[in-house]
Amino acid sequence: MTKTANRRRVALVTGGATGLGQAFAQRLARDGSDVIIADLNDAGETVQLVENAGRKALAVRCDITDEDQVSRLASATDSAFGRVDILVSNAGIYPNAALATMTLAEWRKVFSVNVDGAFLVTRAFLPSMQQRGWGRVVFLTSVSFHIGSPGFPHYIATKGALTGFMHALATEASRDGVTINAIAPSIVLTEGTRREATQQAFDYTRQLQAIDRTQQPQDVVGALSFLTSDDAAFMTGQTLVIDGGLIRT
Ligand code: NAD
Repeated sequence: MTKTANRRRVALVTGGATGLGQAFAQRLARDGSDVIIADLNDAGETVQLVENAGRKALAVRCDITDEDQVSRLASATDSAFGRVDILVSNAGIYPNAALATMTLAEWRKVFSVNVDGAFLVTRAFLPSMQQRGWGRVVFLTSVSFHIGSPGFPHYIATKGALTGFMHALATEASRDGVTINAIAPSIVLTEGTRREATQQAFDYTRQLQAIDRTQQPQDVVGALSFLTSDDAAFMTGQTLVIDGGLIRT
């Protein structure tokens, strides 16, 4: 018989204290996973949501750009759960900035979180998934990478780098039962976009979408649920674009 329900897994969500990461943590818990949340900030609210779904949760304060902190995250998850089966590399920043006035420090900061952080966390958890012969890694990219939205050149460049990283890892990890994919949302209403995106950006994006409403975190969690399931075993190196029909392929 084909197995359709997800088995009990241990998932790690970076940047899971708020926004998309929080919604992912809650959905993974509903799918049956225990969830570790790694974030710069307090993730108590997400812990509560995971526990309300009947699963175990662990919040670890961690700056994913810091190699030592990521090592401590790996030790903490190992002590608490013994393994990580699902990595959702979600933490990211997207400060609005024009190229002409952007400093090198601003450029590097976005690369540090979005690319270096994803590298450090993936390096910490992917090899043990490969050794165990099952794993799921999901990166958060963005539809802005495909359409080149104005005002975020450094951010969009990081999502291109992540896409290349994802493609490369898919080649390396697939023989070991680990799939590596990405989700590219449109503009989603989160704490981050409330801070960084203008009403104009929301309105402009809505006009381009086939579905005329603003995307919510709950619109994206089904894609994560699928990509982290057994049903997605033959899908790797792919980007699932969840954008209300903004890009039509
Ligand atoms: P958000 O700002 O609402 O939440 C991001 C979380 O990441 C926060 O809890 C923050 O504390 C954490 N974080 C930031 N830097 C960190 C670091 N160095 N170490 C650990 N944690 C850190 O963001 P969001 O809107 O939920 O976006 C989440 C991801 O989705 C990002 O990668 C973003 O690029 C991507 N994305 C978002 C949108 C959108 O419109 N919201 C669209 C496309 C892609």
